[in-house]
Amino acid sequence: MTEFDTIAAISTPMGEGAIAIVRLSGDEAVEIADRLFQSPAGKRLKDVPSHTIHYGHIVDPKSGRTVEEVMVSVMRAPKTFTREDVVEINCHGGFVSVNRVLQLVLANGARLAEPGEFTKRAFLNGRIDLSQAEAVIDLIRAKTDRAMNVALLQMEGRLSKLIRELRQTILETLAHVEVNIDYPEYDDVEEMTPRLLREKAEYVRGQIEKLLSTATQGKILREGLATVIIGRPNVGKSSLLNALAHENRAIVTDIPGTTRDVIEEYVNVRGVPLRLIDTAGIRETEDIVERIGVERSRQMLKQADLILLVLNYHEPLTEEDERLFAMTEGMDIVVIVNKTDLPQHIDMERVKELAAGRPIVATSLLREQGIDELEKAIADLFFGGELEAGDLTYVSNSRHIALLEQAKKAMEDALAGIDAGMPVDLVQIDLRRAWELLGEIVGDTVHESLIDQLFAQFCLGK
Ligand code: GDP
Ligand code: ZN
Repeated sequence: MTEFDTIAAISTPMGEGAIAIVRLSGDEAVEIADRLFQSPAGKRLKDVPSHTIHYGHIVDPKSGRTVEEVMVSVMRAPKTFTREDVVEINCHGGFVSVNRVLQLVLANGARLAEPGEFTKRAFLNGRIDLSQAEAVIDLIRAKTDRAMNVALLQMEGRLSKLIRELRQTILETLAHVEVNIDYPEYDDVEEMTPRLLREKAEYVRGQIEKLLSTATQGKILREGLATVIIGRPNVGKSSLLNALAHENRAIVTDIPGTTRDVIEEYVNVRGVPLRLIDTAGIRETEDIVERIGVERSRQMLKQADLILLVLNYHEPLTEEDERLFAMTEGMDIVVIVNKTDLPQHIDMERVKELAAGRPIVATSLLREQGIDELEKAIADLFFGGELEAGDLTYVSNSRHIALLEQAKKAMEDALAGIDAGMPVDLVQIDLRRAWELLGEIVGDTVHESLIDQLFAQFCLGK
């Protein structure tokens, strides 16, 4: 997989005294750098061994002017981050000079990398692990349009809501403990026994763990709308897959830890991330029902967020078509009537009946007709709110993950304290810490006075 062009970007955050790096990746990385690089000894980057670093200057080939004094590392494929040829130009100047180097690199044949694109290449070139997979998801996200961002914001809203509920539980527990300590004369407040305290703490810890599991358990497996293409043999399922993949630059991957024949393709249809499932099945046997049996297909369809049901315009409806409709009753489907370039033999009235209000799109995949309409139908379903991802991950931000990990640790400390019979005010410290950490996720004021909150809870004092 080396049909990629050469990309470049400034790859280090600019900080005081930090060296900034312009990184290039791709077939022409060395050649482009070589055009700009002059070593005192007249060394050519093209000739240097892999994984070596060289002192010299970046010179604008047009004006002959020296732009920057640099150290250049040359790393040839495949032992590089992207598994492509990589060149890193280390500049010690500030933003202006590193930017000038980047501009020169771009003027000499490289393309500015999109956010996450180096990682995406590593992924596409066969280096797949979880963290990279996550970066790919970030990329898919970064590429999505504004409408999708709205959907993502809503997802984040769901996370905030969950976090706030957890904070509230902790706060109530703390308030409860506080009342017991400070106002022992309040008989009407049930005593916070170690058992009750443990119960609450265990609940919070469990919820945090659950959130974390959405972030870490093969996150990529869950991302995107699980989409299945079904239809009789020869109706055009593979063609549809290819059309969607082609138009949307599919990311194809063998998912680690699953059988090798399960290939999933991620496509971004107008901002809707689709995860096309079991496309290997489509490719290899043409018919998932035939391949895995009716019962398993039904199970699989149940798990799908979206089903693309393909029919043949050129043939009458068959029993199997009717059976597929029956299997998808009540599910989110888009009906695709394909091969409209051929004479009609399908009964469209019956198709409408069977579709029962769900969208129908006519296509000629052979002539690349109707694909826009199909994409629009999918996007309308999603943004119209009819289509909901079964379990889109809530937590994806690495800062959130880190905070959740720390909060979980604090809750574990609290539980250990309770079990060891520690004084309740020591347990409180851990609870309070968890409360603060969770607060950082939702951006609630970190230094809010807990005491104020406690009083607001119970309207005590005065
Ligand atoms: P699948 O078995 O459902 O995966 O169907 P394929 O995508 O493999 O297509 C079966 C055959 O139909 C292939 O020869 C395709 O080229 C052809 N085909 C797919 N779409 C169209 C179309 O819109 N019009 C015509 N005439 N042929 C098509
Ligand atoms: Zn096929």
